[in-house]
Amino acid sequence: MASEALPAADGPAEASALDAADPLRAHRDAFVGAQTPLVYFDGNSLGRPLRASVDGAAAFVRDEWGGRLIRGWDEEWMSLPVTLGDQLGRVCLGAEPGQTVIGDSTTVLLYKLLRAAFDAVHGSDPARVQIVVDRDNFPTDRYLVESIAAERGGQVRWIEADPDAGVTADALRAAVGGQTAVVLLSHIAYRSGYLADAADLTRIAHDAGALIVWDLCHSVGAAPVDADAWQFDLAVGCTYKYLNGGPGAPAFAYVARRHLGVLDQPIHGWMGAADVFAMAPEYAPASDARRFLSGTPPITGMLPLRDALALIEQVGISAIRAKSVALTEFAIRLADAWLAPLGVRVASPRDCARRGGHVTLAHPAMRAVTARLWAQDVIPDYRDPDGLRIGLSPLSTSFAEVATGLQRVAEALRELG
Ligand SMILES: *Cc1c(COP(=O)(O)O)cnc(C)c1O
Repeated sequence: MASEALPAADGPAEASALDAADPLRAHRDAFVGAQTPLVYFDGNSLGRPLRASVDGAAAFVRDEWGGRLIRGWDEEWMSLPVTLGDQLGRVCLGAEPGQTVIGDSTTVLLYKLLRAAFDAVHGSDPARVQIVVDRDNFPTDRYLVESIAAERGGQVRWIEADPDAGVTADALRAAVGGQTAVVLLSHIAYRSGYLADAADLTRIAHDAGALIVWDLCHSVGAAPVDADAWQFDLAVGCTYKYLNGGPGAPAFAYVARRHLGVLDQPIHGWMGAADVFAMAPEYAPASDARRFLSGTPPITGMLPLRDALALIEQVGISAIRAKSVALTEFAIRLADAWLAPLGVRVASPRDCARRGGHVTLAHPAMRAVTARLWAQDVIPDYRDPDGLRIGLSPLSTSFAEVATGLQRVAEALRELG
């Protein structure tokens, strides 16, 4: 969409009109703190809590943990990683039941899936030694690829992607072939917000005979994912970003049914065993998705996620995505009108079909700008080398917040830039 110059005075008026017409506006009331003047631009890093989660946590401690004690494991908690996983799969991933589990951190689950995938492919075809990943992927993703390659005698094949965009079909096609074991990509790039065509890239990896692991941290809950239809092999993602699970909430893993009984994840713990309470002398993995679990599931950490999934199910991902696009479109128009004259570059895709839920604004002064904004209760985040990330969480962010926040960015740049 072409941007038109927007006089500064029109920004707040347009924001009010957009808020008044927003079909999701009523849901902001469901979030703690969304009614205060604070401007929150970091729901892509740590989502706001739902009010329901406040009462839910207290009730859980009092009634379930306090009242049921160890009986709670039999009554509900043992099954929660798979029942909640199924719900997340249905609501956010386009996944049939039985393929999604809630478990460890994203980092640990990614290690387990990536290593299982590498071992399976490399084990059946020793010429397939490479793990393909892009140079601008999130640090944990890059570090894991390097450590698994070192641990298993593999190699890393780097894709050099445009940091203002992401991995294109041509770039992936050029990187995969008879030496590829596994590809690891982020569906939405954490820095630029580039939204990859996951169905197309999955097809390219498969045509090369490789498996693909998708990191959905920045798309789950904000953008449509159709894991089964898009033929995903494996995927992981956070629940504390757009899924409002709270700091350190456990991540999810998706394993396509065709891989379930086959892949061997490396952290063999009792919770992944076929019969947990058999306390058997040797490890025999469960035949279903539970085999991707290792230790005792973090139940208290899963509670807020239940509330968020209930709300997302009620609203629907397509309505959430529509608001997400409208928010980022508005942010880019304001950035063009107010910030471009101050030397700011939009370091995110301008085509909304290729853009996720956040917008990165680049300028050499952004580190100092971020510190100043935080002190004024305007909370974006900063990513090296010069990016201010504006994360717009469709259920809890208003258009007025976008206008106020970007006005403060302009003021800060005038003083610091
Ligand atoms: C946030 C994020 C992670 C975080 O992993 P943790 O193990 O939860 O720290 C991983 N990958 C991507 C792409 C992320 O955006």
